[in-house]
Amino acid sequence: MTAVRIDGRALAEKVRAQVAEDVRAYGGPVCLATILVGDDPASHTYVGSKHKASQEAGIDSRDHRFPSDTAEATVLELIDELNADDAVDGILVQLPLPDHMDEPKVLRAVDPDKDVDGFHVLNAGRLYLGEPFLVPATPSGVMVMLEEHGVDLQGKEAVVIGRSEIVGKPMAMLLLLRHATVTICHSRTRDLAAETLRADVIVAAVGVPGLVRAEMVKEGAAVIDVGITRTEAGLVGDVAPDVAARAGLLTPVPGGVGPMTIAMLLTSTVRAARYRRKELAHPVT
Ligand code: NAP
Repeated sequence: MTAVRIDGRALAEKVRAQVAEDVRAYGGPVCLATILVGDDPASHTYVGSKHKASQEAGIDSRDHRFPSDTAEATVLELIDELNADDAVDGILVQLPLPDHMDEPKVLRAVDPDKDVDGFHVLNAGRLYLGEPFLVPATPSGVMVMLEEHGVDLQGKEAVVIGRSEIVGKPMAMLLLLRHATVTICHSRTRDLAAETLRADVIVAAVGVPGLVRAEMVKEGAAVIDVGITRTEAGLVGDVAPDVAARAGLLTPVPGGVGPMTIAMLLTSTVRAARYRRKELAHPVT
């Protein structure tokens, strides 16, 4: 078997075109504010891409960048201002923050109704309770990919590798909401291959190149590679190339989940705007 490759770039293009249409239909301006602290080159690239994508979709954006020695209080002050600013619909704090900052505290300062990354405890709790509102973009993008390719999740075995707050845990919750039987694996999982071999769907969100090998995958499984590691040869995922010979569906790296993440952030921004204008009732699934 040779896996069908999910084209994340093409699908993201489709989602972004839909967002542009939604922005036009919405009528008023939609605005996303980003906050970036420090000089991590990857973070600067990500934030730059988010602004470019926003502008292409007709979303206004505000770009707040601070040097790495900025006091936490300065960032909290800006978040307060953006929370109170009626023209701002979405606030995104680019992670990671510098070590001297209390990341959960900063994330908790964002108004949950403007929390387009879905990292606020309230939005995490809503997802946990089965009432998702603003959901982290990467796992949302994975769900759209599975849906677009007609993957029926009901009663299926789904294995998520990774248990971070931004990918693994929300991913598991979204799969559970679609009635999959979900297993979450992590660095202490005793026998990873024994878990993945049962899986109809594998989502790898680890950051270890080639962790998932062909002999760990059931014939025909859908394998979603969230992992991104920068190497001299370019970006590589968590899934080894030989998996393509066993999987039914596979996402490439680059060009898979990555482009979907930005597209889903735009979707969340429009959702936040519509919710604030009371066009949408809460909760929204
Ligand atoms: P993270 O916070 O570092 O979490 C990594 C997870 O992998 C942890 O739960 C860890 O387990 C687990 N893990 C580590 N080694 C393992 C092993 N050998 N076997 C099984 N599990 C193992 O990372 P993250 O933020 O979730 O991101 C994960 C990957 O996705 C990274 O490569 C990141 O760059 C990428 N990413 C991509 C996108 C995108 O748009 N495509 C977005 C976000 C992240 P413990 O909890 O036990 O430590």
